[in-house]
Amino acid sequence: MSTLSEVVSRPDVFDVVIVGGGPSGSACAYWLAQAGWSVCLIEKKEFPREKTCGDGLTPRSVHQIIQMGLEPVVAANAHRYNGLRSFGFGASLEMKWPDHPVFPNYGYTITRFNLDGLVAQHAQSHGATLLNGVEAVSLLEASESTSAQLRGAAGVVVKEKSSGVVAEIRGRYLVVGDGQNSRLGRELGTARNRSWPMGMALRGYYTSDRHDEAWIDSHLDIRDPHGAVVPGYGWIFPLGDGRVNVGVGLLSTGGAWKGVNTTKLQEYFVAQTADAWGLNDSTSCGPPTGGRLPMGLAIGPRVGTNTMTIGDAAGTVNPFNGEGIAYGYETGRLAAGVLSEALLANDQRALVMYDELLEQAYGDYFQVARAFVRIISEPKILTACVSVGMRVEPLMKELLKIMANLMSNDHQGPAELGYRALTRLADVIPERAYDLLLGQSTGDD
Ligand SMILES: Cc1cc2nc3c(=O)[nH]c(=O)nc-3n(C[C@H](O)[C@H](O)[C@H](O)COP(=O)(O)OP(=O)(O)OC[C@H]3O[C@@H](n4cnc5c(N)ncnc54)[C@H](O)[C@@H]3O)c2cc1C
Repeated sequence: MSTLSEVVSRPDVFDVVIVGGGPSGSACAYWLAQAGWSVCLIEKKEFPREKTCGDGLTPRSVHQIIQMGLEPVVAANAHRYNGLRSFGFGASLEMKWPDHPVFPNYGYTITRFNLDGLVAQHAQSHGATLLNGVEAVSLLEASESTSAQLRGAAGVVVKEKSSGVVAEIRGRYLVVGDGQNSRLGRELGTARNRSWPMGMALRGYYTSDRHDEAWIDSHLDIRDPHGAVVPGYGWIFPLGDGRVNVGVGLLSTGGAWKGVNTTKLQEYFVAQTADAWGLNDSTSCGPPTGGRLPMGLAIGPRVGTNTMTIGDAAGTVNPFNGEGIAYGYETGRLAAGVLSEALLANDQRALVMYDELLEQAYGDYFQVARAFVRIISEPKILTACVSVGMRVEPLMKELLKIMANLMSNDHQGPAELGYRALTRLADVIPERAYDLLLGQSTGDD
């Protein structure tokens, strides 16, 4: 780990300065550093640090972990699982992760406390300068933004938390991966499209005898004490370390969660699953914590003359399943590839490729996902779909492939065909039509 005084004593301008040592920032730093570029990765907390999360890595995340050469060290700190067990409306289904030409057929659970420092230190061991306990407090010499472009910047002004020392860190390029609140992203000029869906989730840890089960559970009907279904879903992810991660999530497509309190939702969910998992005050490891899930590329712009946003700061959570770690790793890697091109060609204009690559990778998929969550966030429609779907196992297995973005390009199975049908649906039905169809207002969440 470098100290701030060591770093500022060097006269260098880094090739790339990255703000945020979560999945997106650390992956970006790793890919740039292993390509030989000089990188400074700035994280305001000291690793290991808590980050509110379900702690679930799907095969898509595991693939990125493997690609970074990190699987052995992650596996040594993680719990391997086989797939998803879904519960709803009196039925349950056990669905293995599918076999896929690229992605593995297993996932891991690992606390972010343990995971995130491993990736940041991996970037460091490949040559990145890692600053811990140092917060980027403002942009350095920022230019004006436009509605289509982020502001440019010469780097960031930082503050070391322990000493209060303030300094400037300069870079030819600046990447911001500062997470869901993204204060620095907003200073760059980002804004969220407020008419698109947004997720909100809460999680707590419990000790449980069932901590090492080989499945992660998702519950599609949460009930209040009177047995009425309330909007939202719940999960229980065994961590293999004596604990389970228990959480709830809500989707909003325009103020829909306003009447719903996630703390209450978590209480209902814990009560519903308490007997089966041994959840009670004495097994609780502390009060739950929550956060927002900016999804479907709802945050933009994402590129400026020499600046970019990645991960949650760019709204890259998958609206289908609330997964954001894989998309943090992937967008960090995509950004690193584009930055390498720009640095090699000594041409900032290469950065526009980032938006094009995001569009190619996620454009259609996220459009379908946004349309899908608009429909299912209507409780009556959700109830009807889930209670039928849970009784048709092949349908749910195909849906799992779509929702976890594990379809394959060279295979025309029902998931791929179904997804193409959904894509066509999303093309012909404008999103506004869903709002009208469901009688929902937009723009005020
Ligand atoms: C309750 C909940 C459950 C979830 N469950 C899952 C799950 O099971 N699986 C999954 O894939 N996704 C899950 N997600 C989503 C996932 O946590 C995020 O999508 C993911 O962490 C995004 O990574 P990131 O690198 O963009 O941001 P983050 O992980 O938020 O990292 C941002 C980093 O930037 C640092 N930072 C912020 N500001 C500054 C600053 N000014 N200077 C320096 N450092 C700064 C922060 O300390 C942080 O370390 C969940 C989210 C929530 C809220």
